[in-house]
Amino acid sequence: QPLDELIASLTVDVPDHPEPGVLFRDLTPVFADGPAFRRLVAGLAAPENGDPRAAALAGGDDAGADHAGPPFDVVVGVEARGFLLAAAVALSAGVGVVLVRKAGKLPRERIAADYVLEYGTATLELHSDSIRPGQRVLVVDDVLATGGTLAAAVALVEQLGGVVTAVSVVVELAALGGRQRVAPHTVHALWTT
Ligand code: IMP
Repeated sequence: QPLDELIASLTVDVPDHPEPGVLFRDLTPVFADGPAFRRLVAGLAAPENGDPRAAALAGGDDAGADHAGPPFDVVVGVEARGFLLAAAVALSAGVGVVLVRKAGKLPRERIAADYVLEYGTATLELHSDSIRPGQRVLVVDDVLATGGTLAAAVALVEQLGGVVTAVSVVVELAALGGRQRVAPHTVHALWTT
């Protein structure tokens, strides 16, 4: 089964959450399904490959990828569902994971980026020493909606001199135009709807 169809079949649509008129895509059943989660992680880790072989994750006979190493040095995950995806992707690729958190959570010197929500603004933060200049960074989150969240995460990484080599999401809600907001970075979505 193609990965996008698998994700679509396991995602539960919740009307009017968190407020009237919003159709919330609940991905937690996808995460809870072992084979689906494995394929999700492999897809996020190899964004150039729309439906990558699970071998890349299993350390199997995907020799080319093994020899070259992943095209990133660290994975950045956005609180909160991005954390579990980023951790799994980092483990599969043999690199570390860095947290972009909501305001007030990180204990040490940090940088902040404000971004606009439908109503009001929000702030994301990143420890100042968590990315080294020139490090290649894969940024991961679960859903691309308006793109404000990922654009802010990318801006934080770049403020520290990180080089964003890819942005990967499980689901892109295309009607909300988030892809334009994250440009010029290309968003790799495992399922676009
Ligand atoms: P954006 O900033 O508008 O692109 O919203 C993306 C952020 O909101 C991500 O961190 C998502 O986890 C969350 N989000 C927005 N819409 C949904 C949804 O339908 N399902 C799950 N998460 C969502």
